[in-house]
Amino acid sequence: MISKQVQERLNQQLNREFSASYLYLAMASYCHSISLNGFAQWFEQQSEEEREHAMKVYSYLQEQGATVQFPAIEAVNAKFNSITHVLEETLAHEQAVTKSYHELFAYVREQSDFATEIFLQWFITEQVEEEASVEAILQDTKRVKDSGESLLRLDCKIAKRTKSPAEAVTE
Ligand code: MG
Repeated sequence: MISKQVQERLNQQLNREFSASYLYLAMASYCHSISLNGFAQWFEQQSEEEREHAMKVYSYLQEQGATVQFPAIEAVNAKFNSITHVLEETLAHEQAVTKSYHELFAYVREQSDFATEIFLQWFITEQVEEEASVEAILQDTKRVKDSGESLLRLDCKIAKRTKSPAEAVTE
């Protein structure tokens, strides 16, 4: 059984993951609005992945017999200036999520909550991957500067990245 404090904090993580899923869907919608369908597809996939993260936290809370809470999901201010802006916001968001997992990890370690510490290890590793992939796309996007033919080429490249290797082969 996990403590009330850990339950509370895991519930906050659950909400953060759903917020991320919601935010990335808003970003996908923005990408569609500026005809960057590859980026839109990538953000839709990211949104789905964030939901999967939320479900992992949800399942762990259930397994631990904890109370799952469903507060409001933060509204998204979906006003973006450019694709670079969107990716900068994405990176900042992922960095904030990483920080929240690190703080929680430090807390459960201090509390000797070994089960939750092991559970959280997956998220710590996942965040390294998330930040690296967003950083790589941000750098590519900055290089092509928000417009022109090279941005469209990058959009096609991003579209390919969202498919599994098996799907890419059959194209
Ligand atoms: Mg996540």
